[in-house]
Amino acid sequence: MEISDLIVSQHDVKGKILVVDDQIVNVKIIKKLLQEDYDIFMATDGDQVIDVCMDLQPDMVLLDIEMPTVNGFEVCKQLKANPLTANIAVIFITAHFEEATEVKGLQLGAVDFIHKPINPIITKTRVKNQLMLKQQSDLLRSFAMYDALTGVANRRQFDQRFAANWRHCIRDKEPISIIMLDIDVFKQYNDNYGHQQGDNCLALVAKTIQQTLKRPCDLVARYGGEEFVCILPQTDFCGAEHKAKSIIDNINALKIEHGFSNVSDYITVSAGVATVVPHKEMQQDMLLELADKQLYLAKSNGRNQVASIEISNIS
Ligand SMILES: [Mg+2]
Repeated sequence: MEISDLIVSQHDVKGKILVVDDQIVNVKIIKKLLQEDYDIFMATDGDQVIDVCMDLQPDMVLLDIEMPTVNGFEVCKQLKANPLTANIAVIFITAHFEEATEVKGLQLGAVDFIHKPINPIITKTRVKNQLMLKQQSDLLRSFAMYDALTGVANRRQFDQRFAANWRHCIRDKEPISIIMLDIDVFKQYNDNYGHQQGDNCLALVAKTIQQTLKRPCDLVARYGGEEFVCILPQTDFCGAEHKAKSIIDNINALKIEHGFSNVSDYITVSAGVATVVPHKEMQQDMLLELADKQLYLAKSNGRNQVASIEISNIS
């Protein structure tokens, strides 16, 4: 994705706001006030907020402080402690106007306060201002999510997406697949053709991998020097293996001359595939390690090929 695409896509999106209050009537008042301008979601229990936020990824949470099970302060603390929800803007809604309460809320990471009973103009304005700041900082953050040389996702974006996809696949009992890719004999390419041409080769390979992954939910990231990793959520073993083979074919079809390779006259890649239907007791890093082992196997079997493994569930 180009930077200009990012800016355009930010403007297209209607802000998502989660309203949390144990009194449903309060939630409804705010929904009515804001629903024209934003997508509004509702929760009446502090307990649900973290889970809902991880799935929904709202831009903002309007959070009641006084709630029976888990109070707003506690919810805010949990949101800020979790990397998947830490960037969501929190505005507290409270019936009490006390300096100490506001200080505590701001120290926990909230960006603003709204007082009950709700004043429509103040509420709308505060929400609008904070949402604008949130979207601007999202945009800045997204610039830091791409690998400068190849234009595909970087390691940081990979880590975030993998964690989120892993979680979704646990919930939906769906398979998730990882493809680890490495350009064969790349050191010799760099040493003989020079780093500039090496960089061009990396960019072309990255672009080809990206074009081979057609679904928007799939992600390719630069994982290391000449190593790439793909996340394929809701993709079973056969689908992932097929995709890895297509990537290898498409790289071969580029016919990037490599006179110093013992594999082919052209640039080739090797791929390691691992698939699992994850469950809560599993570590996501295990899937990466297994894909990496398969990549090693593909290398030792002669490169320019796929090795793959499906992990059967031992629960
Ligand atoms: Mg309340």
